[in-house]
Amino acid sequence: MDAVAYALPLRHRFRGITVRQGLLLRGPRGWAEWSPFAEYGPAEAGQWWLATQEALTEGFPAPVRDRVPVNVTIPAVDPDTAYHLTAGSGCQTAKVKIADPGQSATDDLARVEAVRAALGPSGKVRVDANGAWDVETAATRLAQLARVGLEYAEQPCASTEELAELRLLLARRGVDVLIAADESIRRSGDPERVVELDAADVAVLKVQPLGGVRRCLELAERLGLPVVVSSALESSLGLAAGVALAAALPALPFACGLNTAAMFTADVTATPLIAEQGYLPVRPVEVDENGPWRAEPAVTEDWLDRLSRASGASQ
Ligand SMILES: [Mg+2]
Repeated sequence: MDAVAYALPLRHRFRGITVRQGLLLRGPRGWAEWSPFAEYGPAEAGQWWLATQEALTEGFPAPVRDRVPVNVTIPAVDPDTAYHLTAGSGCQTAKVKIADPGQSATDDLARVEAVRAALGPSGKVRVDANGAWDVETAATRLAQLARVGLEYAEQPCASTEELAELRLLLARRGVDVLIAADESIRRSGDPERVVELDAADVAVLKVQPLGGVRRCLELAERLGLPVVVSSALESSLGLAAGVALAAALPALPFACGLNTAAMFTADVTATPLIAEQGYLPVRPVEVDENGPWRAEPAVTEDWLDRLSRASGASQ
């Protein structure tokens, strides 16, 4: 099987990295991506491999829509950069990273306000804290940010139990912010606990971490919550799997977090999946085999080593 690692530079640092790496493999259905984050061990990376195998051998279920609304993703940048990234995106929804290491409450508020200014009053602003806060801090900070108008707050606290507690506390204090679960769905090992504890209003689903498009469709049905499909910061090839999920869901009430190819300065295709007027088309992505995305051969060797450990773990 053909296998080549990619290395795509990011315009702005995001989740602590400046270059995103992953592996592209070619199988019976064409190219597919496997790109678990570097810090994930074989068991978790093996789950991602299930998604790659689906793309390599089965392809994706039939779509029920031909385009998918998406948000622009705003890293932990200064307010001026946040304003211009939002205004230049053409999207009506923005997801803003907050609670990043080294950022204060004032920095976060200024960034969210700049994004609101760029979108105007009819735009939708959501925030993602990646589980950074305890319940009390989350309640305080979200009360402050809610004055800017929030569509929802994604994973403000780390555990599902804390999210449940936070929802009650926000209600008691009269703070009207919906809660979305991301890490509680894809990393806790027990996504259904979110529903059992009434811990979230929205479920964020990511194809690779959850083992494929079909597994995500089944999970969405079991959860019974509105779903937002988000990327795991893949190349456009990996994003196509997320678009396939968003296109196959029976209902899609929110914009999806699938516009992340716009954050790279290069891609594995000559026609990246980047939103126009806030939508991504549902279409296959052709790999540009001679593009500038190829990593050094030693990087491919490292990824193949990692895959041999992870694929054993997923069986
Ligand atoms: Mg998230």
